[in-house]
Amino acid sequence: TFSEKSQSTLYTLLPKVQNFLKMPKKLFIGGKWVDAVSGKTFPTYDPATGEILAQVAEADKEDVDKAVKAAREAFEKGPWAKMTPSDRGKLIWKLADLIEENLEELAQIESLDNGKPMAVAKAADLPLSIDLFRYMAGWATKIEGNTIPFSLAKPETFVSYTVREPIGVVGQIIPWNFPLLMAAWKLGPALATGCTIVLKPAEQTPLSALWLGELIQQAGFPDGVVNILPGYGETAGAAIASHMDIDKVAFTGSTEVGKIIVKAAASNLKKVSLELGGKSPNIVFSDADLSTAIPGAAFSIFFNHGQCCCAGSRLYIEKKVFDKVVEGVSEEAKKIRLGPGLDPTTQMGPLVSQEQFDRVSSYIRSGISEGGKVVTGGNRYGERGYFIQPTIFSGVHSNMKIVNEEIFGPVVCAMPFEGVDEIAPVANQTIYGLAAGIWTKDISKAHRLASKLKAGTVWINCYNVFDAALPFGGYKQSGWGREMGHAVLENYLETKSVCIQI
Ligand code: NAD
Repeated sequence: TFSEKSQSTLYTLLPKVQNFLKMPKKLFIGGKWVDAVSGKTFPTYDPATGEILAQVAEADKEDVDKAVKAAREAFEKGPWAKMTPSDRGKLIWKLADLIEENLEELAQIESLDNGKPMAVAKAADLPLSIDLFRYMAGWATKIEGNTIPFSLAKPETFVSYTVREPIGVVGQIIPWNFPLLMAAWKLGPALATGCTIVLKPAEQTPLSALWLGELIQQAGFPDGVVNILPGYGETAGAAIASHMDIDKVAFTGSTEVGKIIVKAAASNLKKVSLELGGKSPNIVFSDADLSTAIPGAAFSIFFNHGQCCCAGSRLYIEKKVFDKVVEGVSEEAKKIRLGPGLDPTTQMGPLVSQEQFDRVSSYIRSGISEGGKVVTGGNRYGERGYFIQPTIFSGVHSNMKIVNEEIFGPVVCAMPFEGVDEIAPVANQTIYGLAAGIWTKDISKAHRLASKLKAGTVWINCYNVFDAALPFGGYKQSGWGREMGHAVLENYLETKSVCIQI
């Protein structure tokens, strides 16, 4: 049975994946695969079984120093700096092609290391990563400045213009919930703008980033343009955030660590962009098409096991249809098939780690002890691995911990509301502002409410829809700056004004 055997004995691993798991996992610095200076390694686990999948070289400060040196050299002197934008774009497109050629393998790796169902990795993580690189490849040739007429100069006395230049050496720190996609969101625009990069994947899920390193080499990126350093946040991550020769740090992760990054970045006042946590409201009106709103509400929270920064974790339902919607979402939750990611019938895998399992379990206990009613779920699933049942709470009130704090697991709080005038302030009652959902057939009401919500993304009659062209990011404590779209290029560019007296 599954509980007695490892996933690799139950499911066939592709030959390239088997080989990859056997190979030593090194750091990618200056175009070479090297051991950590300390010689240390750390384990990465299969969250479906709790077994060690691989040992990975553990980067620390000295390795970050080496990587920054390689990135600086590549930025200032290497062939990258002299490359035409068109050639830069071709390399990024080539990388997308290579990811596509390795789609099955990368989906298996993502499923093994993160726990997500392989089918989800194939349908979401991989195609979105590929498209992100292709979309950004197009931007490489379209980075433009402006000509600027002076407000105080007479005509024909001055000509002035702006040039957009790559910001330089960029440190990128990413989380474990979409390991490859988060790497793509970061690397794509930094490469399109001509920066060089030191990327630190999350310690829970370093494997797909290392595979990506191989593809970056194969695509022909010059040495040192991308450096990949698995390691822990408090060591390698902190060394990146505080490094004196990194020009910019781009971080995705918790709001708590985001604040630490901002303080560390003050060392040399490097530029900072942040994609942080959320506690997003998903609002269902009684005039919604409930046959789409109910599965939509379930999808908004249970997709990726609730481990989404934009998860619809506060479900506000208009009073008239409260019971019906709660019952419907609860039926949806009960139908979700939990299991190991490699099982083709699995719809929800385990949480990523023991730590995450403990965290989510403790929130469920807190919800119960504060008087919340578990409508469905609320327990561990199986005997090993980090599985938690999709869980719905009702009977909660606005000052409870589970209503206010980000759980980052498959746990949703259902709450009734009276009408459109009441809901905007309630929905905005959070330190976060990442996303929101609205379900109604009244499109005027939807637009009116969308304009009142303090959220970087508002989904109407849909949820968790992402596109490389659509900016994504947070109001309030959900972040600084935007990912994707042309908006993300701002994160990686400086503006130079050039002024000529005629
Ligand atoms: P985390 O903040 O603990 O870790 C994220 C990354 O930061 C990891 O690579 C980690 O090693 C590193 N890190 C940890 N401590 C550090 C330190 N002191 N200095 C430098 N780096 C450090 O978050 P997590 O638990 O891995 O991820 C979950 C969080 O990420 C959630 O809050 C979620 O909302 C957020 N998230 C946000 C987005 C978004 O786009 N807004 C996307 C995914 C995840």
